[in-house]
Amino acid sequence: MEQIRMVDLTGQYRRLKGEIDAAIREVIDSTAFINGPAVGKFATGLGNYLGVKHVVPCGNGTDALQVALMAIGLKPGDEVITPDFTFIATAEVVALLGAKPVFVDVDPHTFNITPEAVRKAITPRTRAIVPVHLFGQCADMEPILELAREHNLYVIEDAAQALGAEYKGKGGTTGKAGTLGHIGCTSFFPSKNLGAYGDGGAIFTESDELAASMRSIVNHGMKARYYHDRIGVNSRLDTLQAAILQVKLKYLDDFNTRRQEAAARYDEALKLSGRFDIPARSPFSTHIFHQYTLKTKGIDRNRLREFLHEKNIPAMVYYPVPLHAQKAYAYLGYRESEFPVTDSLCRQVISLPMHTELSPDQQEYIVEQLHAFRP
Ligand SMILES: *Cc1c(COP(=O)(O)O)cnc(C)c1O
Repeated sequence: MEQIRMVDLTGQYRRLKGEIDAAIREVIDSTAFINGPAVGKFATGLGNYLGVKHVVPCGNGTDALQVALMAIGLKPGDEVITPDFTFIATAEVVALLGAKPVFVDVDPHTFNITPEAVRKAITPRTRAIVPVHLFGQCADMEPILELAREHNLYVIEDAAQALGAEYKGKGGTTGKAGTLGHIGCTSFFPSKNLGAYGDGGAIFTESDELAASMRSIVNHGMKARYYHDRIGVNSRLDTLQAAILQVKLKYLDDFNTRRQEAAARYDEALKLSGRFDIPARSPFSTHIFHQYTLKTKGIDRNRLREFLHEKNIPAMVYYPVPLHAQKAYAYLGYRESEFPVTDSLCRQVISLPMHTELSPDQQEYIVEQLHAFRP
Protein backbone atom coordinates (compact mmCIF):
# COMPACT_ATOMS: atom_id res chain seq x y z
CA MET A 1 0.00 0.00 0.00
CA GLU A 2 1.26 3.47 -0.90
CA GLN A 3 2.02 5.81 1.98
CA ILE A 4 -1.18 7.62 2.95
CA ARG A 5 -1.06 11.36 2.46
CA MET A 6 -3.51 14.10 3.34
CA VAL A 7 -3.23 15.24 -0.29
CA ASP A 8 -1.37 13.17 -2.90
CA LEU A 9 0.00 15.58 -5.48
CA THR A 10 2.69 13.11 -6.54
CA GLY A 11 0.28 10.41 -7.66
CA GLN A 12 -1.82 12.87 -9.60
CA TYR A 13 1.23 14.34 -11.33
CA ARG A 14 2.36 10.84 -12.31
CA ARG A 15 -0.92 10.30 -14.15
CA LEU A 16 -0.79 13.65 -15.99
CA LYS A 17 2.99 13.92 -16.35
CA GLY A 18 3.17 13.84 -20.15
CA GLU A 19 0.72 16.66 -20.67
CA ILE A 20 1.94 18.79 -17.77
CA ASP A 21 5.62 18.47 -18.68
CA ALA A 22 4.84 19.48 -22.28
CA ALA A 23 2.87 22.52 -21.09
CA ILE A 24 5.73 23.63 -18.81
CA ARG A 25 8.31 23.05 -21.56
CA GLU A 26 6.33 25.22 -23.96
CA VAL A 27 6.29 28.16 -21.53
CA ILE A 28 10.01 27.86 -20.86
CA ASP A 29 10.78 27.66 -24.59
CA SER A 30 8.69 30.77 -25.25
CA THR A 31 10.07 32.65 -22.18
CA ALA A 32 6.70 34.45 -21.96
CA PHE A 33 6.77 34.09 -18.19
CA ILE A 34 4.53 37.06 -17.42
CA ASN A 35 1.10 37.35 -19.05
CA GLY A 36 1.96 34.75 -21.68
CA PRO A 37 -0.74 33.31 -23.92
CA ALA A 38 -1.59 30.48 -21.47
CA VAL A 39 -2.93 33.01 -18.96
CA GLY A 40 -5.64 34.29 -21.28
CA LYS A 41 -6.40 30.82 -22.63
CA PHE A 42 -6.82 29.40 -19.16
CA ALA A 43 -9.04 32.33 -18.10
CA THR A 44 -11.27 31.80 -21.14
CA GLY A 45 -11.44 28.06 -20.51
CA LEU A 46 -12.34 28.56 -16.86
CA GLY A 47 -15.00 31.13 -17.78
CA ASN A 48 -16.58 28.61 -20.16
CA TYR A 49 -16.43 25.86 -17.58
CA LEU A 50 -18.08 28.02 -14.91
CA GLY A 51 -20.48 29.80 -17.23
CA VAL A 52 -19.34 33.24 -16.15
CA LYS A 53 -18.58 36.24 -18.36
CA HIS A 54 -15.37 37.54 -16.81
CA VAL A 55 -12.45 35.72 -15.22
CA VAL A 56 -9.67 37.90 -13.83
CA PRO A 57 -6.60 35.81 -12.97
CA CYS A 58 -4.51 36.93 -10.00
CA GLY A 59 -1.70 35.89 -7.69
CA ASN A 60 -3.58 33.83 -5.08
CA GLY A 61 -6.95 33.39 -3.41
CA THR A 62 -6.26 35.95 -0.71
CA ASP A 63 -5.48 38.60 -3.34
CA ALA A 64 -8.67 37.60 -5.18
CA LEU A 65 -10.69 38.48 -2.07
CA GLN A 66 -8.78 41.70 -1.48
CA VAL A 67 -9.12 42.87 -5.08
CA ALA A 68 -12.86 42.09 -5.02
CA LEU A 69 -13.28 44.24 -1.90
CA MET A 70 -11.19 47.04 -3.43
CA ALA A 71 -13.35 46.93 -6.57
CA ILE A 72 -16.55 47.53 -4.61
CA GLY A 73 -14.84 50.54 -3.02
CA LEU A 74 -14.72 49.18 0.53
CA LYS A 75 -13.76 51.98 2.92
CA PRO A 76 -12.53 52.21 6.51
CA GLY A 77 -15.50 51.91 8.84
CA ASP A 78 -17.48 49.68 6.47
CA GLU A 79 -18.56 46.29 7.75
CA VAL A 80 -18.26 42.96 5.97
CA ILE A 81 -20.05 39.85 7.20
CA THR A 82 -18.02 36.63 7.14
CA PRO A 83 -18.37 33.25 8.86
CA ASP A 84 -16.53 32.70 12.14
CA PHE A 85 -15.58 29.21 10.93
CA THR A 86 -13.26 29.62 7.92
CA PHE A 87 -9.66 30.12 6.89
CA ILE A 88 -8.27 33.44 8.10
CA ALA A 89 -7.86 34.98 4.61
CA THR A 90 -11.61 35.60 4.33
CA ALA A 91 -11.52 38.11 7.19
CA GLU A 92 -7.91 39.24 6.93
CA VAL A 93 -8.40 41.20 3.72
CA VAL A 94 -11.35 43.08 5.24
CA ALA A 95 -9.21 44.15 8.18
CA LEU A 96 -6.27 45.02 5.89
CA LEU A 97 -8.46 47.50 4.03
CA GLY A 98 -9.36 49.18 7.32
CA ALA A 99 -12.90 47.82 7.32
CA LYS A 100 -14.47 45.74 10.06
CA PRO A 101 -14.98 41.98 9.77
CA VAL A 102 -18.29 41.01 11.37
CA PHE A 103 -18.35 37.33 12.21
CA VAL A 104 -21.44 35.15 12.22
CA ASP A 105 -21.96 31.63 13.49
CA VAL A 106 -22.50 28.72 11.10
CA ASP A 107 -24.86 25.82 10.55
CA PRO A 108 -23.87 22.83 12.73
CA HIS A 109 -24.40 20.33 9.88
CA THR A 110 -23.11 22.00 6.69
CA PHE A 111 -20.61 24.27 8.53
CA ASN A 112 -21.73 27.13 6.27
CA ILE A 113 -23.05 30.58 7.07
CA THR A 114 -26.87 30.74 7.50
CA PRO A 115 -29.19 33.44 6.13
CA GLU A 116 -30.72 33.92 9.61
CA ALA A 117 -27.34 34.69 11.17
CA VAL A 118 -26.47 37.05 8.32
CA ARG A 119 -29.75 38.91 8.71
CA LYS A 120 -29.06 39.54 12.40
CA ALA A 121 -25.60 40.90 11.66
CA ILE A 122 -26.65 43.52 9.11
CA THR A 123 -26.25 47.14 10.26
CA PRO A 124 -26.38 50.48 8.39
CA ARG A 125 -22.59 50.15 7.91
CA THR A 126 -22.69 46.72 6.26
CA ARG A 127 -21.36 46.82 2.69
CA ALA A 128 -20.86 43.20 1.78
CA ILE A 129 -21.45 39.58 2.73
CA VAL A 130 -18.70 37.03 2.07
CA PRO A 131 -20.16 33.52 2.19
CA VAL A 132 -17.53 30.77 2.19
CA HIS A 133 -18.42 27.49 0.46
CA LEU A 134 -16.61 25.52 3.11
CA PHE A 135 -15.01 22.13 2.43
CA GLY A 136 -16.56 21.96 -1.06
CA GLN A 137 -20.25 22.62 -0.57
CA CYS A 138 -22.15 25.83 -1.39
CA ALA A 139 -23.69 28.00 1.28
CA ASP A 140 -27.39 28.66 0.76
CA MET A 141 -27.01 31.52 -1.69
CA GLU A 142 -30.61 32.28 -2.69
CA PRO A 143 -31.77 33.76 0.64
CA ILE A 144 -28.38 35.44 1.09
CA LEU A 145 -28.72 37.13 -2.31
CA GLU A 146 -32.26 38.14 -1.39
CA LEU A 147 -31.01 39.77 1.84
CA ALA A 148 -28.32 41.54 -0.14
CA ARG A 149 -30.89 42.95 -2.58
CA GLU A 150 -33.08 44.11 0.31
CA HIS A 151 -30.20 45.93 2.00
CA ASN A 152 -28.26 46.95 -1.09
CA LEU A 153 -25.18 44.88 -0.26
CA TYR A 154 -22.57 43.14 -2.36
CA VAL A 155 -22.17 39.38 -2.16
CA ILE A 156 -18.61 38.19 -2.69
CA GLU A 157 -18.26 34.41 -2.66
CA ASP A 158 -15.18 32.74 -1.26
CA ALA A 159 -15.15 29.69 -3.52
CA ALA A 160 -11.54 28.73 -2.76
CA GLN A 161 -12.63 25.27 -1.58
CA ALA A 162 -15.53 24.69 -3.95
CA LEU A 163 -14.46 25.13 -7.56
CA GLY A 164 -16.85 22.97 -9.59
CA ALA A 165 -19.60 22.62 -6.93
CA GLU A 166 -23.11 23.27 -8.26
CA TYR A 167 -25.71 25.29 -6.44
CA LYS A 168 -29.41 24.60 -6.96
CA GLY A 169 -31.68 26.84 -4.90
CA LYS A 170 -35.30 26.12 -4.00
CA GLY A 171 -36.41 29.13 -6.04
CA GLY A 172 -34.63 28.02 -9.20
CA THR A 173 -31.27 29.81 -8.90
CA THR A 174 -28.61 27.51 -10.31
CA GLY A 175 -24.96 27.92 -11.12
CA LYS A 176 -21.47 26.97 -10.13
CA ALA A 177 -19.88 28.14 -6.89
CA GLY A 178 -18.33 31.55 -7.43
CA THR A 179 -20.79 32.64 -10.14
CA LEU A 180 -23.83 33.33 -7.97
CA GLY A 181 -22.89 36.55 -6.17
CA HIS A 182 -21.66 39.85 -7.59
CA ILE A 183 -18.10 38.59 -7.44
CA GLY A 184 -16.61 35.12 -6.86
CA CYS A 185 -13.08 34.37 -5.70
CA THR A 186 -11.02 31.23 -5.86
CA SER A 187 -7.56 29.91 -5.10
CA PHE A 188 -5.30 27.55 -7.03
CA PHE A 189 -3.16 26.70 -3.99
CA PRO A 190 -1.72 23.25 -4.81
CA SER A 191 -4.02 21.33 -2.44
CA LYS A 192 -7.23 22.95 -3.71
CA ASN A 193 -9.51 20.94 -6.01
CA LEU A 194 -7.97 22.74 -8.99
CA GLY A 195 -4.43 23.22 -7.74
CA ALA A 196 -1.42 24.80 -9.43
CA TYR A 197 2.24 23.99 -8.76
CA GLY A 198 2.60 27.16 -6.76
CA ASP A 199 0.30 30.07 -5.96
CA GLY A 200 -2.57 31.30 -8.10
CA GLY A 201 -6.06 32.71 -7.89
CA ALA A 202 -8.92 34.09 -9.93
CA ILE A 203 -11.91 36.40 -9.62
CA PHE A 204 -15.24 35.98 -11.42
CA THR A 205 -18.02 38.39 -12.28
CA GLU A 206 -20.83 38.99 -14.74
CA SER A 207 -20.40 42.77 -14.40
CA ASP A 208 -18.38 44.53 -17.11
CA GLU A 209 -17.78 47.41 -14.76
CA LEU A 210 -16.48 45.34 -11.83
CA ALA A 211 -14.35 43.27 -14.22
CA ALA A 212 -12.74 46.42 -15.65
CA SER A 213 -12.02 47.70 -12.13
CA MET A 214 -10.51 44.41 -11.04
CA ARG A 215 -8.34 44.10 -14.17
CA SER A 216 -7.00 47.55 -13.42
CA ILE A 217 -6.51 46.91 -9.68
CA VAL A 218 -4.47 43.71 -10.20
CA ASN A 219 -2.23 45.70 -12.56
CA HIS A 220 -1.20 48.63 -10.32
CA GLY A 221 -4.42 50.55 -11.00
CA MET A 222 -3.21 51.10 -14.53
CA LYS A 223 -5.46 52.17 -17.39
CA ALA A 224 -3.15 53.01 -20.26
CA ARG A 225 0.48 52.00 -19.80
CA TYR A 226 2.07 54.11 -17.02
CA TYR A 227 -1.14 56.06 -16.39
CA HIS A 228 -2.56 55.06 -13.02
CA ASP A 229 -6.20 55.87 -12.32
CA ARG A 230 -6.36 54.32 -8.90
CA ILE A 231 -4.23 52.69 -6.23
CA GLY A 232 -3.80 49.07 -7.18
CA VAL A 233 -1.66 46.06 -6.37
CA ASN A 234 0.59 43.69 -8.31
CA SER A 235 -1.19 40.38 -8.48
CA ARG A 236 -0.65 38.10 -11.47
CA LEU A 237 -1.17 34.45 -12.26
CA ASP A 238 2.14 33.48 -13.77
CA THR A 239 2.26 31.79 -17.14
CA LEU A 240 3.76 28.52 -15.89
CA GLN A 241 0.93 28.13 -13.41
CA ALA A 242 -1.66 29.03 -16.04
CA ALA A 243 -0.23 26.42 -18.42
CA ILE A 244 -0.41 23.73 -15.71
CA LEU A 245 -3.91 24.79 -14.73
CA GLN A 246 -5.04 24.71 -18.35
CA VAL A 247 -4.12 21.03 -18.46
CA LYS A 248 -5.71 20.27 -15.10
CA LEU A 249 -8.94 22.18 -15.83
CA LYS A 250 -9.90 19.47 -18.34
CA TYR A 251 -9.82 16.97 -15.49
CA LEU A 252 -11.54 19.06 -12.81
CA ASP A 253 -14.86 17.21 -13.07
CA ASP A 254 -12.99 13.90 -12.99
CA PHE A 255 -11.00 15.07 -9.93
CA ASN A 256 -14.22 16.05 -8.17
CA THR A 257 -15.89 12.73 -9.06
CA ARG A 258 -12.94 10.81 -7.64
CA ARG A 259 -13.24 12.79 -4.40
CA GLN A 260 -16.98 12.11 -4.28
CA GLU A 261 -16.38 8.39 -4.76
CA ALA A 262 -13.82 8.34 -1.97
CA ALA A 263 -16.28 10.27 0.25
CA ALA A 264 -19.01 7.71 -0.48
CA ARG A 265 -16.66 4.89 0.57
CA TYR A 266 -15.85 6.66 3.85
CA ASP A 267 -19.56 7.34 4.43
CA GLU A 268 -20.50 3.71 3.95
CA ALA A 269 -17.85 2.53 6.41
CA LEU A 270 -18.46 5.17 9.07
CA LYS A 271 -22.15 6.00 9.01
CA LEU A 272 -23.06 3.49 11.71
CA SER A 273 -20.05 4.01 13.96
CA GLY A 274 -21.83 6.16 16.57
CA ARG A 275 -18.61 8.08 17.21
CA PHE A 276 -18.78 10.30 14.18
CA ASP A 277 -21.23 12.33 12.18
CA ILE A 278 -20.37 11.87 8.52
CA PRO A 279 -20.40 15.05 6.40
CA ALA A 280 -23.93 16.40 5.86
CA ARG A 281 -25.05 17.01 2.29
CA SER A 282 -27.11 20.13 1.86
CA PRO A 283 -30.21 19.85 -0.35
CA PHE A 284 -29.14 22.81 -2.49
CA SER A 285 -25.56 21.97 -3.44
CA THR A 286 -23.35 19.22 -4.71
CA HIS A 287 -20.37 18.48 -2.46
CA ILE A 288 -16.95 18.20 -4.07
CA PHE A 289 -15.10 17.31 -0.89
CA HIS A 290 -12.20 19.65 -0.72
CA GLN A 291 -12.15 18.14 2.76
CA TYR A 292 -13.86 15.08 4.18
CA THR A 293 -14.63 16.33 7.66
CA LEU A 294 -16.09 14.24 10.47
CA LYS A 295 -17.69 15.55 13.61
CA THR A 296 -16.55 13.44 16.54
CA LYS A 297 -19.09 12.57 19.24
CA GLY A 298 -18.07 11.89 22.83
CA ILE A 299 -14.43 11.07 22.07
CA ASP A 300 -11.26 13.06 22.54
CA ARG A 301 -10.60 14.41 19.05
CA ASN A 302 -7.00 15.34 19.78
CA ARG A 303 -6.19 11.88 21.13
CA LEU A 304 -7.79 10.33 18.06
CA ARG A 305 -5.61 12.49 15.86
CA GLU A 306 -2.45 11.41 17.74
CA PHE A 307 -3.54 7.77 17.53
CA LEU A 308 -4.00 8.04 13.75
CA HIS A 309 -0.61 9.68 13.36
CA GLU A 310 0.97 6.76 15.22
CA LYS A 311 -0.64 4.51 12.60
CA ASN A 312 0.82 6.64 9.80
CA ILE A 313 -2.51 8.17 8.95
CA PRO A 314 -2.40 11.93 8.58
CA ALA A 315 -5.50 13.77 9.80
CA MET A 316 -5.97 17.48 10.14
CA VAL A 317 -8.10 19.87 12.11
CA TYR A 318 -9.70 22.55 9.95
CA TYR A 319 -10.05 24.75 11.94
CA PRO A 320 -8.90 24.54 15.56
CA VAL A 321 -9.58 28.18 16.53
CA PRO A 322 -12.61 30.30 15.57
CA LEU A 323 -11.76 33.61 13.92
CA HIS A 324 -13.28 35.63 16.77
CA ALA A 325 -10.87 33.93 19.20
CA GLN A 326 -7.72 34.63 17.16
CA LYS A 327 -5.29 36.93 18.93
CA ALA A 328 -4.99 39.23 15.91
CA TYR A 329 -8.73 39.88 16.03
CA ALA A 330 -9.06 40.39 19.78
CA TYR A 331 -9.46 44.14 19.09
CA LEU A 332 -12.91 43.41 17.69
CA GLY A 333 -14.00 42.64 21.24
CA TYR A 334 -16.02 39.48 20.72
CA ARG A 335 -16.98 37.40 23.74
CA GLU A 336 -16.40 33.68 23.83
CA SER A 337 -20.04 32.70 24.15
CA GLU A 338 -21.20 34.45 21.00
CA PHE A 339 -20.50 31.62 18.54
CA PRO A 340 -21.54 28.35 20.18
CA VAL A 341 -21.65 26.30 16.97
CA THR A 342 -18.23 27.38 15.74
CA ASP A 343 -16.78 26.86 19.23
CA SER A 344 -18.01 23.28 19.36
CA LEU A 345 -16.99 22.52 15.76
CA CYS A 346 -13.46 23.68 16.50
CA ARG A 347 -13.33 21.10 19.29
CA GLN A 348 -15.03 18.28 17.37
CA VAL A 349 -14.01 18.25 13.72
CA ILE A 350 -11.34 16.12 12.12
CA SER A 351 -10.56 15.88 8.41
CA LEU A 352 -9.41 12.59 6.92
CA PRO A 353 -7.08 12.14 3.93
CA MET A 354 -8.97 13.22 0.81
CA HIS A 355 -7.61 13.54 -2.70
CA THR A 356 -7.94 12.25 -6.23
CA GLU A 357 -5.63 9.26 -5.75
CA LEU A 358 -7.05 7.77 -2.55
CA SER A 359 -7.45 4.00 -3.03
CA PRO A 360 -10.09 1.69 -1.51
CA ASP A 361 -7.42 -0.31 0.34
CA GLN A 362 -5.95 2.86 1.87
CA GLN A 363 -9.42 3.86 3.00
CA GLU A 364 -10.08 0.39 4.40
CA TYR A 365 -6.96 0.71 6.53
CA ILE A 366 -7.95 4.22 7.70
CA VAL A 367 -11.45 3.06 8.66
CA GLU A 368 -10.09 -0.03 10.43
CA GLN A 369 -7.89 2.19 12.58
CA LEU A 370 -10.74 4.60 13.28
CA HIS A 371 -12.76 1.67 14.61
CA ALA A 372 -9.78 0.34 16.56
CA PHE A 373 -9.34 3.60 18.49
CA ARG A 374 -10.20 3.21 22.17
CA PRO A 375 -11.04 6.52 23.75
C1 LIG B 1 -7.17 28.64 0.45
C2 LIG B 1 -8.19 29.59 0.90
C3 LIG B 1 -8.06 30.97 0.73
C4 LIG B 1 -6.78 31.63 0.29
O1 LIG B 1 -6.20 31.19 -0.84
P1 LIG B 1 -4.61 31.43 -1.08
O2 LIG B 1 -4.46 31.10 -2.52
O3 LIG B 1 -3.89 30.50 -0.19
O4 LIG B 1 -4.33 32.85 -0.79
C5 LIG B 1 -9.11 31.79 1.07
N1 LIG B 1 -10.23 31.30 1.60
C6 LIG B 1 -10.41 29.98 1.80
C7 LIG B 1 -11.70 29.50 2.38
C8 LIG B 1 -9.39 29.08 1.49
O5 LIG B 1 -9.56 27.79 1.73
